[in-house]
Amino acid sequence: MGIIKVKCINCNKEIIVNKYKTADGWICGKCFSLSGYNIINALKKTKEQVRSDIELHSRLNNKNNFIISKKIGNYIEFDDINRQFRVFDGLNEIGIFIDSLLGEKKNSTIYSYDDIIEFELIEDGSTVTKGGLGRAVVFGALTGPAGAIVGEITGKKTTKSIINSLKIKITVNNFYKPAVYINLIDVKTKTNSIMYRSIYEITQQILSTFTLIIKQNELKKSNEISKEFKNNQYSAAEEIRKFKELLDEGIITQEEFDEKKKQLLNI
Ligand SMILES: [Zn+2]
Repeated sequence: MGIIKVKCINCNKEIIVNKYKTADGWICGKCFSLSGYNIINALKKTKEQVRSDIELHSRLNNKNNFIISKKIGNYIEFDDINRQFRVFDGLNEIGIFIDSLLGEKKNSTIYSYDDIIEFELIEDGSTVTKGGLGRAVVFGALTGPAGAIVGEITGKKTTKSIINSLKIKITVNNFYKPAVYINLIDVKTKTNSIMYRSIYEITQQILSTFTLIIKQNELKKSNEISKEFKNNQYSAAEEIRKFKELLDEGIITQEEFDEKKKQLLNI
């Protein structure tokens, strides 16, 4: 009995039958590690899922192509060129500091601007400010730019004299980590202290940056929609021209042509 050779369903490399099996066949060790799967959950994945999971996983783990264009405190970094941001998920300032001493920001995660659904400022467990796309988007039912709402960042100051916790929660379109937290305060802090004032400043900067990104996202989306609309208009005109030819050649009647034209122009 010879060695059975198969092809990795993702990269096509010839491999010996191994332990990395998916629903659609075997994958090589390299693709397996890139996918982030374990041996059990890999079994249920289709070829399509393997491909998209590898893409997502490698995008999130590629810390080398992150170009910092803006950094707010030690909490968050923005890369406007590649439209992505990096957060030190769940860590407080001390945690971030230790993490950066230990090496290359290993507890950080990179997210795409396009994945932002909404963000909110949570003070002692309750939401004080919220912004982002409307609810419809969360359920994937956005039909046009009108469905998007940007929350107004009021920047109103707290009425409390002491705060125990302050964090920003960012909801992202990410299967693995749908909620990202930026911990701004996690110890008892007086709101008239210098510490609080500096954190307040940072908080406002982060929130207004997210507001801007969401506005950019909406603009991008509405540009895409109007481009698509123009393309449709163009192809309708092309179609009508074709039917006009058929009419001129006597293949269809005037009535049939008028009917088709109405249909194509949506009138
Ligand atoms: Zn492979």
